[in-house]
Amino acid sequence: MYKAFLIKYSEIGIKGKNRYVFEDALCKNISDALKKAEGDFKISKEQGRIYIEALTVYDYDEVISILTKVFGIAAICPVMLVDDKEWESVCAAAVSHVKKRYEDRNFTFKVEAKRGDKNYPYTSPEIGSRLGEVLINTFPEMKVDVHSPQVRITVEVRSKVYIYSESIKGLNGMPVGTSGKAMLLLSGGIDSPVAGYMIAKRGVKLAAVYFHAPPYTSERAKKKVVSLAKKIAVYAGSIRLYTINFTEIQMAIYEKCPHDELTIIMRRYMMRIAEELAKREECLGLITGESIGQVASQTMHSLLCTNDVCTLPVYRPLIAFDKQDIVEISQKIDTFETSILPYEDCCTIFVAKHPVTKPNLNVIRKSETKLEEIIDDMIQRAYDTMEIEDMEI
Ligand code: ATP
Ligand code: MG
Repeated sequence: MYKAFLIKYSEIGIKGKNRYVFEDALCKNISDALKKAEGDFKISKEQGRIYIEALTVYDYDEVISILTKVFGIAAICPVMLVDDKEWESVCAAAVSHVKKRYEDRNFTFKVEAKRGDKNYPYTSPEIGSRLGEVLINTFPEMKVDVHSPQVRITVEVRSKVYIYSESIKGLNGMPVGTSGKAMLLLSGGIDSPVAGYMIAKRGVKLAAVYFHAPPYTSERAKKKVVSLAKKIAVYAGSIRLYTINFTEIQMAIYEKCPHDELTIIMRRYMMRIAEELAKREECLGLITGESIGQVASQTMHSLLCTNDVCTLPVYRPLIAFDKQDIVEISQKIDTFETSILPYEDCCTIFVAKHPVTKPNLNVIRKSETKLEEIIDDMIQRAYDTMEIEDMEI
């Protein structure tokens, strides 16, 4: 029934001379996302709008499911395309649209016309009133209400004529790639995938790093992270995932440092390594799934100690979220079921029974000096043995 879609995008960030950057990125992301779909599509910009035209048969539900996961889209309007702009053809198409789309036509409506082609014989108000009349004559059960209609039937006259009356909500946000790149510390838990999703929604491209500790953490735990990265890539586009073998560093911390400071010191080394990888990837910041007070390593005191080793900004989009709110997002973006799979997490393997909840920065720094002579070589080995995998959409 629909040969095309009109894409409405959020207004934020598109004003002025940057507008085309936003639009071009959105077109490219739509095009990349639709590569997964059956059928061929043409994406075009016309007078500040983006249109997707289906050139072959396609699966409507599949296309809607894909487009409702592209950041930057405010709404998707399935459009009936009229190639021939003759008035009779336009009327016939509008009648056919209403007939096919609405089985029950007991509703109030209004025809809204937008004449982009100034040579068209009727003005916008004329198109609206003439077409309104045709529709009431054809479907007497429909009533006009120009103030608050239940159905708005829009007719846009451009190089072709577009008729639509439905608007499917998009995710909003900004097209990925318009705001730089950031390095996500991706664990197998519930929070970090949600954090990555939220930052990507602001137009940020993602890279990710996972710290594992074989043989204490299994191959299955790693596969879980890979599958989480793929699930985020559905929204965020391709993601390069670094997997760092953290075992040696973790064991050294365990042997040399006080056990109640273990998690904090571990987290500080994760941050240092993530930051180095971030710089190699030209990332402008780090992302974590931390939330104030969630666990001992995320009290304000602990966050201060973790943050102390970072020079790049650390984005923590969940910082003020309750767990339940995070869970709801993870369910919505389909990472929850994977996140709760019961595989080991390197943070819990050597965890102290009573971790410090108010670590003192000077004490932590002093404890770390016990690693001075060995840590640089260990970190170097971690880089030398890291695995890099690109998660495609
Ligand atoms: P998550 O659900 O994201 O694992 P969490 O509630 O389990 O979070 P922590 O384990 O304290 O919290 O981790 C806090 C943050 O540190 C995570 O959100 C993640 O960004 C990062 N992180 C923790 N462990 C790892 C890991 N093994 N690899 C990469 N990042 C990690
Ligand atoms: Mg965790």
